[in-house]
Amino acid sequence: MAYQSTNPYTGKVLQTFEQITDAQLEDHLKQASNCFENIWCHTSFSERAAVLRRAATILRERPQEFAKLITLEMGKLLPQSLGEVALSAAILDYYAEHAERFLAPEKIATPRGEAMVESSPIGVLFGVEPWNYPYYQVARFAAPNLMAGNVVMVKHASSVPQCALAFERLMVEAGAPAGAYTNLFVSKEQVTQVIDDARIRAVALTGSEAAGAVVAARAGQNLKKTTMELGGSDAFIVLEDADLDKAVKHAVSGRMGNSGQACTASKRFIVVDSLADRFLERFQAALENFKPGDPMDKQTTLAPLSSLEALKNLLAQVDGAVAGGARLLLGGARIAGLDGAFMQPTILTNIDKANPAYLQEFFGPVALFFRVPDEDSAVALANDSPFGLGGSVFTQDVERGKRVARRIDTGMVFINSDLTSSPELPFGGVKNSGYGRELSGAGIQEFVNKKLIRVS
Ligand code: NAP
Repeated sequence: MAYQSTNPYTGKVLQTFEQITDAQLEDHLKQASNCFENIWCHTSFSERAAVLRRAATILRERPQEFAKLITLEMGKLLPQSLGEVALSAAILDYYAEHAERFLAPEKIATPRGEAMVESSPIGVLFGVEPWNYPYYQVARFAAPNLMAGNVVMVKHASSVPQCALAFERLMVEAGAPAGAYTNLFVSKEQVTQVIDDARIRAVALTGSEAAGAVVAARAGQNLKKTTMELGGSDAFIVLEDADLDKAVKHAVSGRMGNSGQACTASKRFIVVDSLADRFLERFQAALENFKPGDPMDKQTTLAPLSSLEALKNLLAQVDGAVAGGARLLLGGARIAGLDGAFMQPTILTNIDKANPAYLQEFFGPVALFFRVPDEDSAVALANDSPFGLGGSVFTQDVERGKRVARRIDTGMVFINSDLTSSPELPFGGVKNSGYGRELSGAGIQEFVNKKLIRVS
């Protein structure tokens, strides 16, 4: 597994990085463990917060430097990369501000004596992270856990090594001691070694179901706690009383943001009959308007996918859907005349239950469209999925929206919006979308020891 930066807009290999040796891995593990035992777990909340706040300030002072690396390595439109840098800074600041309150000791009412629960750090954590939001994903894992007093080691996706190194440098520049945050260019075999190592106390993975199953199984053999943030195929339900303008606007941003490569992207558009034709017409017109080009150029609205491999896989999925009886309403092919990994915005309709697409996640600008008679059928279809990450409901009756939201079997439901992420909102799913939560007060509770102290 080579760690290699390839610009998905030009196809040019930018830089290749050596994997570390087993001896180097051992040095890193030793350093992280020493840092935890001798330095980091003895620091106060305010000392840790100073490091995270400084990191946030650096991101805000030099956003272009960080954002351009994202765009170079995985092709995101530069304004969206700048947005990701700002969100990552907000996450660092959020935990710097609130961690002490989230982890404050809790007194427990007990008939005799005194009882309290204290949250203490558990040690060295291992995170396996994906390329689609190269800083945000890492900030979600590192910020709460560093504030809790743990130290972190990160295996980033092999396609974004420059971003991986940039985040490690950021933490060092912000004043984190050596070993508090460690980037690891490790092979998959070494991932197993890291999970098995007694100094690693828990593992977090964000990525596909396949990777999650492998990593969670290994951690399970070692009786180590994990959190899994996996794939999704979020339903976007439009009820008959929805504001159509709003629904179409959010359908476009929900499907096309990050070129469709988001776990919480809107992927299955489920529209009640009475609005279906008008919705589809306007949605299609909006998708036809996207302009592919250089993601560094502000005029570009459609970025390439992260790699030619990702494009090949997505095209094969679309072909499979069509072979299975789906109708291609829009797109369906690679954009001609450009070297980059560009996929046409695509809409598939007439997808029945036997179609392989019915249960799949489409990680790119491909919308699956379903027409349903009513609210009950919309909810049933939304829940007929192996995934349970997020979902959206559009209705002008907010109370009705809440009732529908409660019936959707996912970790997150947004009413009258596509999904967005914010430091204070818990993030995570159910079913094959994984377990555990990141962000918010919940995200800092995953890897702490809730220790009972009882005075008789
Ligand atoms: P991926 O292939 O699973 O990769 C994610 C990370 O896991 C990478 O660091 C990858 O390393 C590593 N990995 C893959 N297979 C592994 C194995 N057998 N053992 C150890 N590590 C392994 O996922 P992706 O294609 O990059 O990302 C897309 C998927 O992630 C989608 O399903 C998406 O929905 C999901 N996702 C979920 C969330 C969420 O919060 N729920 C957020 C973003 C993405 P290499 O790069 O070296 O292969």
